[in-house]
Amino acid sequence: MKNLLPFLFFSFLFLTCQSTEKIEEIVVIGGGLMGSTTAWQLSNYGEQVLLIEQQDSVYSYGSSYGEARIARSSNRGNDIWSYLHNRSVKEAQKLVSYLDSNPRGNQTYDLTDIYTTSPVTYIGRTRIYDKLYNSLIRQQVDYKMAVNQAEGKALFDVNLPDSVLMQVEYNEHSGNINPKKIINYCQQAVLQKGNSIWYNHKVTDLKQDGDLFIIQLVNSKTGEKKTIKSKKVVSAAGPFTGKLLKNTAPYFDQLINPQRVFLAFFKIKKSHFENYTPEQKEKVFTAYPVINSSKGTRDGSFFSMIEKVDEYGFPLIKIGGHFQRSPIKDIATVWQQKLTPKEIEWSQNSTLGYFDLLNVPLTLNELELVDSYSCVYSLTKTEVPYVTHIPMPNSEVSNPNFVVLGGMSGVGAKGALTYGLLGANLLLGKEDEEAGYQAIKTALGFERLMKDLKEL
Ligand SMILES: Cc1cc2nc3c(=O)[nH]c(=O)nc-3n(C[C@H](O)[C@H](O)[C@H](O)COP(=O)(O)OP(=O)(O)OC[C@H]3O[C@@H](n4cnc5c(N)ncnc54)[C@H](O)[C@@H]3O)c2cc1C
Repeated sequence: MKNLLPFLFFSFLFLTCQSTEKIEEIVVIGGGLMGSTTAWQLSNYGEQVLLIEQQDSVYSYGSSYGEARIARSSNRGNDIWSYLHNRSVKEAQKLVSYLDSNPRGNQTYDLTDIYTTSPVTYIGRTRIYDKLYNSLIRQQVDYKMAVNQAEGKALFDVNLPDSVLMQVEYNEHSGNINPKKIINYCQQAVLQKGNSIWYNHKVTDLKQDGDLFIIQLVNSKTGEKKTIKSKKVVSAAGPFTGKLLKNTAPYFDQLINPQRVFLAFFKIKKSHFENYTPEQKEKVFTAYPVINSSKGTRDGSFFSMIEKVDEYGFPLIKIGGHFQRSPIKDIATVWQQKLTPKEIEWSQNSTLGYFDLLNVPLTLNELELVDSYSCVYSLTKTEVPYVTHIPMPNSEVSNPNFVVLGGMSGVGAKGALTYGLLGANLLLGKEDEEAGYQAIKTALGFERLMKDLKEL
């Protein structure tokens, strides 16, 4: 009996540890826009959620880095982008109302922290007029459009080249959306709902074992490793999706293609900006954000916006090109990759060309490059993202306990809270009857994934 005592004690300890081992209800991997919005939507449904992010609490790299993205309702041809934006505005209102009714200290919350309403300019070739016009009507966009030089002068006082049109959207909450604020607000709300966020935790392995997911983690500060289990998982790892899902859904490495995009930031020299008339200054501010495809070529297309206004009221102009993207050699170091002289020259020329069109004087000498960096977004073949279950191993049946949000490309920000809602609903088996919601569910969802897999 004496010899049996230690055995009984350790057996008891073992069984107790086994039975009290914590199993998470839902783990969301990735605290960028998609993971943060999904974790918030799940928390808002009253679910127990653990959000895991490899970065520190201040988001400092990744596709969602920065303080401005273009948000607009109009989109030539495809109404899903319009719905994604409009529904996100409503979801952002709910998020702000929740935070406002549960404030932290003296902090106040306002929708204008997330959206800066301003006219959104689109410049393109006149050949797209019919498609654009029909979309503007369907999408209930408040707009003005000039389709030739005389109308350009009369409506906007701009120099429109031949065969170029300019359309400006004036919907409320169209303009700029601030990803930094959305991430911050969602994460605050997740915590206020009593859920947890583990920063500085990188998922190094993810596998399914029976009904559970086994998640291995390393703490990037202490090096400590641990393994947790969860009943359900959301993967929202942005450009790292292929790597994260290598053992769970390895095909995403082929379906989602991370690309480098570069950004240049300019200031107009103080002495020059101060010499602008009040009308010219006003024109500069209302001319951004802009999507310019006036040349009808990939090289001639750019997006540009005012990232911030400095303490003296001067705009910081950011410019990049969706068609300037390039393959990535090493995702770990791409963020540090400097812009080439050619890329800087392209950014300068595109900005000067736009000022020329606006009829506001600006020369290279007065344009000061203040910052530039490389960033990344993940692209699917059609540039339409995935928000979907994955199939069970060797099967075409969907796994209800696993959702992937990925391949959000250059349009993820304006729909962020809708993607998060869709991800949360899929994981919980919830529905939404709005026609637009059903359209995005189909466009981004499981059947599409299965079709894409067959074409691999
Ligand atoms: C230059 C540029 C311009 C853009 N312009 C617009 C625009 O004008 N309008 C618009 O609507 N959209 C725009 N977008 C797109 C939008 O910003 C992205 O689609 C969106 O930010 C993608 O968010 P995400 O959460 O999928 O990815 P990310 O922000 O990259 O988030 C993924 C997160 O997962 C974390 N993670 C990854 N792997 C792990 C792991 N193993 N363990 C733990 N954490 C992990 C990462 O650290 C990261 O925080 C633009 C994007 C870029 C880059």
